[in-house]
Amino acid sequence: MRYQPSLPSLAFVLLTAVSIGASAEFNAAELDNEQSGKNWLTHGRTHSEQRYSPLNEINAESISKLGLAWSVELPDARQIVSTTLAVDGILYVTTSFSIVTAIDARTHDVLWKYDPQVPAHAGETLKLLWGTSRGVAYWNGKIYVAAGDGRLIAVDAKSGKEIWSAQTTEPGGHFYVTGAPRAFNGKVIIGNGGTETGPARGYVTAYDAETGEQAWRFYLVPGNPADGFEDNAQRMAAATWNGEWWKHGGGGNAWNAITYDPDFNHIYIGTGNGSPWNQKIRSPGGGDNLFLCSIVALDADTGKYRWHYQTVPGETWDFNSSMDIVSVDLEVNDRVIKTLMHAPKNGFFYILNRANGKLLSAEKFAKVTWASGVDMKTGRPIETAGSRYEDGEVLIWPGPAGAHNWQPMSWNPNTQLMYFPYHDVPGYYNDTAINLTTFQAKRHELSTGVSYAEDDSPADSGTSGLMAWNPLTQQVAWKHDNPGIWNAGTMTTGGDLVFQGLADGQFIAYRASDGEKLWEFDAKHGIAAPPITYEIDGRQFIALPVGWGGGLSMMGGSIGAQHGWQYGRHPRRLLVFALDGAANLPPTPPPMMVEPLDDPAFVLDAEKVATGKTLFVRHCVMCHGPGAVAGGGAPDLRGSPIMMHREAADGVILEGQRMSRGMAKFSNLTTTDVETIQHYVRERARATLGANASAISK
Ligand code: CA
Repeated sequence: MRYQPSLPSLAFVLLTAVSIGASAEFNAAELDNEQSGKNWLTHGRTHSEQRYSPLNEINAESISKLGLAWSVELPDARQIVSTTLAVDGILYVTTSFSIVTAIDARTHDVLWKYDPQVPAHAGETLKLLWGTSRGVAYWNGKIYVAAGDGRLIAVDAKSGKEIWSAQTTEPGGHFYVTGAPRAFNGKVIIGNGGTETGPARGYVTAYDAETGEQAWRFYLVPGNPADGFEDNAQRMAAATWNGEWWKHGGGGNAWNAITYDPDFNHIYIGTGNGSPWNQKIRSPGGGDNLFLCSIVALDADTGKYRWHYQTVPGETWDFNSSMDIVSVDLEVNDRVIKTLMHAPKNGFFYILNRANGKLLSAEKFAKVTWASGVDMKTGRPIETAGSRYEDGEVLIWPGPAGAHNWQPMSWNPNTQLMYFPYHDVPGYYNDTAINLTTFQAKRHELSTGVSYAEDDSPADSGTSGLMAWNPLTQQVAWKHDNPGIWNAGTMTTGGDLVFQGLADGQFIAYRASDGEKLWEFDAKHGIAAPPITYEIDGRQFIALPVGWGGGLSMMGGSIGAQHGWQYGRHPRRLLVFALDGAANLPPTPPPMMVEPLDDPAFVLDAEKVATGKTLFVRHCVMCHGPGAVAGGGAPDLRGSPIMMHREAADGVILEGQRMSRGMAKFSNLTTTDVETIQHYVRERARATLGANASAISK
C-alpha cells in the first residue's frame, strides 16, 4: 500500500502521536538513568550533571591498551569548548559560532552539518564573542542549538533540518549566548550573557520543545519598580537594591549552569555577577542585590521562584555563580541527603540541601583573600576589610577568572569525590580613575566600572591544578598541578578513572580513587573541552574535541599565549579512543609563539599610542587580548599583516571585510580611531621585539 502524504489516515496520525509520546517518555527516563552508559544525552550526561558514566570496559587495569581509534577533522572550527553529545550511535559536536556536526559513530561519516550563520545574524554582538559555544541539547528526536546571536533553534537529529527557531534575546541588543541549552519534561531552557558589555538585566527562558513557543521566563534581578514587578520574587529582590539600579540593568545573566532536578521538579539557575561589576555604581550604599551570584531554584513547570542561596551578597568582583550545579544524593551515616554541589568563581565549595536551599558546607578550595570564611549560621561570607577596593587598588584572590570557571566538574558515586580544575590567579581591583556618579556602561564595549584588562599579565601570573574534593571531610583528597591556568573540565567513570585534557595538549587519565596518573596521550593542540564516553555495539569509546579556546584564550594575554597555540595554525579535530585503538594522529605543526611584525619606517606617535590603548581596551581586548597579546583564540594583531597597512586595517575594522570569519564591523569607529589603534599595536609589537632582542643578547 502506498503512503499518501496529502491524506494522512487516522491510524497514521495516531501512530505518529504514540511513537512521539513513547519516545519522549523514553527520553525523560534515559536522562534520569545513571545506570546506563550507552549515551551522553545532555551537557552533564544526565539530569544530575554528574558527568559520571558507569561504563567500565576501559578501567584502571585495561587503560594501558587505550589508544586513538579514529578521528575526524573539523576544518571550519576555531576554538572548541563544548561538550559532545552521543545519542543512539550519532555524535553531535558543537564548534565555534554554534556550528553542529553530526557524525555516525560506526562509519565515522559526517551525516550533516548545521551552520546557524551566527556572524550574519549577530549584528553588534559579534564584537563580544568569538563564537564560543558550549554545546547543544537533545530531546525527542531534536537537537537544540543555542546560536551565539541569541536564537534557540530546533533541528531534526537525523537530518539536521531546521524545525523551529525562537529569538531568546532582544534583537539589536547586546545579549549573546554561549551556554548549552538543557531539555527536560518537553521544555528547553536557555540563559544569556552580556553583563560586561552594557546595562544588562539577566533572565532565563523556557520554550516548548516541540513548537518553540515560550513557556515561561524568569528575571534574575528586579526591574524598575515603577513598571510593576513580574512576580513576588522580584518584589522581594528589589528590597535588596539601592539607588536607580535598573538604569544599569543589574546583571545576573545566567550564561552557563542550569540543572534540572526530577526529584523536586526544580530548575536550578547559577546566576551571574553584577552589571556593572562595581557595586558602588550599581547599588550605591550596598545591599545584597538579589539574585546576583546565587543558585535560584524555580518550579520547572511554571518558572515560579522556590528558593535561593546567594554565594556573594553585594557582588563587586565578577564572582558569578555560573559554574556547574551538580545533584548528588550524598550518603551520610546511613542517611541519604539530596544535595547540590557548586564550586563557583569565589573559591568556596558549597553543598546545599536541594529540597530547600539550606547551606550544609562551604569551605575554601583555593587561595581566597576576599573573605576569611562563610558563617554557617547566616550562610554569609565573612568579608576581609578593604576587599571592596574602598581604599584604592587592592590585589584579591581569586581575580575575575575565578578559582574555578565554567570548565565542568564530575562526581564519582563510587569514590564519593568531585573532580574539577581550579586556578590560583589574583586580580587587581581599582576604581579611582572612574567617576562613580556618572558612569554608565556602554553597549557592545568592555564596560565594567572597574579598571580592568589594560595591560598584559606575565605568563606565570597564576598556577592551576586538578583537584579531587571530598565533600564529607571538606578537604582535598588529591591534586595534580596543571600547565598555565586554563585547563579543561573532567569526566569520571565506573572504571575508577578521571579524564582531563590540558592546555598543553596532553589528555590524561588518573585513577579516580587515589589520583595516580595511569595514561596520557599527546593531542598536539590545546584542549579546552571536556571528554565524554559512550557505548556502541558493546564497546566503550571516549570522545574528545581538541582545539584551544575559551575566555583565557581570548583575554588571557601571555597567560594564554604561552602554550603556543596560534589562531588558525593548529588543526581542530574530534579524537575518539577505545581499547586496542591503533589509529595515527594526523600531522600537526608544533607549538609556536607569535612573531611580531615591524616596519622600521613606521614612526610612533606617543599621543596616538595612548589614545589607541584606551580604544583597544574598550573595543578589541575581549578577543585580541590585553597588551595586544592574543591568547590563541583570535588573531594576534602584533603579527597581523593587516595591522601593518592603514587601508587594510580600515577595510577589516570599519567596513567589516572579515565578518564572515567572525571579525565584527566597527562602524562606530573612525579612520582616526583606527590610526591610533594601529599606533598602539605597532608600539606593542616593537616592545615585544625589543624584549625578545634583549633576551637573545643576554
Ligand atoms: Ca562576568
